[in-house]
Amino acid sequence: MNNTNENVNIVIAGPRGNMGREAVRMVTDTDHFTLKAVVDSKHDGMRVADLDGMPALDIPVYTDMDRCFSEHEVDVLIDLTSPAFGRKHMEIAFNHGVRPVVGTTGFSDEDIETLRTIAENKNLGAIIAPNFAIGAILMMKFSQMAAKFLPDVEIIERHHDRKLDAPSGTAIKTAQLISEVREAKVQGHPDEHEELKGARGADFEGMKIHSVRLPGLVAHQEVIFGGEGQTLTIRHDSMNRASFMPGVRLAVETVLSIDTLVYGLENIIE
Ligand code: NAP
Repeated sequence: MNNTNENVNIVIAGPRGNMGREAVRMVTDTDHFTLKAVVDSKHDGMRVADLDGMPALDIPVYTDMDRCFSEHEVDVLIDLTSPAFGRKHMEIAFNHGVRPVVGTTGFSDEDIETLRTIAENKNLGAIIAPNFAIGAILMMKFSQMAAKFLPDVEIIERHHDRKLDAPSGTAIKTAQLISEVREAKVQGHPDEHEELKGARGADFEGMKIHSVRLPGLVAHQEVIFGGEGQTLTIRHDSMNRASFMPGVRLAVETVLSIDTLVYGLENIIE
């Protein structure tokens, strides 16, 4: 196992995506990180330098993750592809003794338990983080703190219109954290009804979650608490994908020293 100050050999999956491009920059800019290869959905056998708009890096591109790990000594996989591939990529990484850091969402509780069992059986660390932005983690923690005193709460999350899943993993995680400290309760008027289906948003133990998808947005969330004669709004905005990279770097460094699966960056930021 690597210590955090030693060189870390990394493969990035999804290097041409918005997140992947930032991750390529972050890894190549970090002294003790080495980008060994990338796994793309196409361009097998090419070099990163050959890909449109990518930096001039003489690093191989694979479409077959299994072959990539067979041909390179790799410590950590950073997966920034799509919810459909996160689980499969983690299993391939585990088979090769590679520790996955995964930013895709859409994992069920059952997926997480299965993957945690594999990680522990193989003595490997793994991190799945629905949100790598440190500010968003603080928003979740502050929301949990506030919910003890102001249990009526609604969440509005806003994302770019290419996002596939709704509500966002961060909104669900926020609701889960809040539900740990408050009794489930019905909010709004007990007799309220929707004139248009979905008007009141998704329901998580009485908390309403509203998802907005528009071009121009990146990732934003407001957690609004209501009490007698007052409201409290806790808001976080990611202005660009660079906002996620300190969290990705922290996850890469942390995954080397754990031997289980951690779900959520809030569990490694104390
Ligand atoms: P994006 O711009 O659509 O990029 C995804 C990239 O992954 C594309 O280049 C895509 O290639 C590639 N890809 C898809 N399937 C692949 C596969 N099987 N193997 C290799 N590459 C594959 O999306 P994004 O905005 O960068 O987001 C990427 C993921 O990160 C999403 O799941 C998103 O929800 C998540 N995300 C997480 C955070 C966080 O903080 N955890 C923040 C933002 C986004 P093609 O276009 O050729 O399919």
